[in-house]
Amino acid sequence: MTHIGGIVLAAGASSRFGRPKQLLQWAGKPLVARAVDAALEAGLEPVVVVLGCAAAQVRAELEDRAVQWVMNWRWEEGLSTSVRLGLAMLPPDTEGAIFLQCDQPLVTAKLLKKLILRFESTQAPIVYPTHAGQRSTPVLFDRALFPALAGVSGDKGGRSLIARYGDQAVSVEVDGLLLTDIDTPDDYERLLKAIPYSEAIPPKFSLAEIRHLIVDMDGVLWRGNEPVEGLVDFFDLLRQREIGFVLATNNASQRPDQYMNKLARFGVTVGPEHILTSAQATADYLASIAPPGARVHVLGMEGLRDALTAGGFTLVEEGAEYVVVGWAIDLTWRKLAVAALQIQAGATFIGTNPDVTFPSEVGPVPGNGAQLAALQAATGVAPLVIGKPEPWLYQEAMRRLGATPETTAVIGDRLDTDIAGGVRAGLRTILVLSGTSNESDLRASPVRPDLVAADIGELARLWKEEMGG
Ligand SMILES: [Mg+2]
Repeated sequence: MTHIGGIVLAAGASSRFGRPKQLLQWAGKPLVARAVDAALEAGLEPVVVVLGCAAAQVRAELEDRAVQWVMNWRWEEGLSTSVRLGLAMLPPDTEGAIFLQCDQPLVTAKLLKKLILRFESTQAPIVYPTHAGQRSTPVLFDRALFPALAGVSGDKGGRSLIARYGDQAVSVEVDGLLLTDIDTPDDYERLLKAIPYSEAIPPKFSLAEIRHLIVDMDGVLWRGNEPVEGLVDFFDLLRQREIGFVLATNNASQRPDQYMNKLARFGVTVGPEHILTSAQATADYLASIAPPGARVHVLGMEGLRDALTAGGFTLVEEGAEYVVVGWAIDLTWRKLAVAALQIQAGATFIGTNPDVTFPSEVGPVPGNGAQLAALQAATGVAPLVIGKPEPWLYQEAMRRLGATPETTAVIGDRLDTDIAGGVRAGLRTILVLSGTSNESDLRASPVRPDLVAADIGELARLWKEEMGG
């Protein structure tokens, strides 16, 4: 096989993204890692990464990969300085090199192999991909052109060479989408939308293995007062297949019976043993660290007050040992002030859940995380948080179910709480796109769910298919 090297040009800075473009996340990896992995998978040898801007961060992202490094201290002078350094790293028996930019996330090993095949069959000095006659990158250069490439200056890269050797260069026609590059935040958003996530990442487990479910409610079972389509079918399926479930919510504002009533209105009957709120988990946690009858100030709603009263705590307006904050839709400046003063006086600051927004019928509105942020800003004290992604809620749900992680899945609509917490707890994770997190969040996030469905209705259909009807 022809010996082709890969040079990943990861030195430049882009001011348009707020951070170096090569570190932007794409389907769970930074862009630079996608370029490197495509090069390695295509059998390029060696793969040389040219570092410059944010070198330490880029290098840290590529740990464990079999690549060589070269540092371009003059990266600000343009691409040609990186090209020269990359070429100098290639051993003498290298027959050609492919230059990869970090901003084409859909350039795969398959595309690189096509360029190499064309190079082998034509012996052309330059091979590049095209779409509808438009020349693009990455470009493969024959070894004979390395001295000329090293002599190019400024930011032109190989463009002037391609112009000079244009009549001998050959092209490989590919799907235009694969060549899309990301120059602006708009390009990034557009490209995210062009590819459904489920096509990019196949599910990592079989639904047929699942015996227990921990299901989030807001954004999964309903949005505000609207049930999600397929709600009744979903619960019918769980009952038919005898799947144990706990409906576990970070929302501490309501009592379990209020959730039961809401579900009943939507045609689903569940018992109190099926409901677990972060208010209940907070009361359980507090009981484990505080003496019986401890003085607790609550900034929150009925669900939280009830759970703490039931836990035997004394609710007070001032002089509290603990300040517990849950979502309060009746929040006022005075309530924030009363809580802040007690935290400043030394009371332990506890938050039921960290969700900064709440998925209402009309869109995301401030959630408990926003209240915690306000109090933290005012007091300089960070809260201890009970709800997802912290472990307490899922641990309590698992205990109730008598479940083991291997056969338990969590279903949630938030990557940063439901899914991140599930991953930490070693559970299978299912993201539904019916609530807070959308496709674009998914691609930009380092948190990886094992399976993604539009909503629980689609999940129920997938489940039935896997179980054979
Ligand atoms: Mg939710």
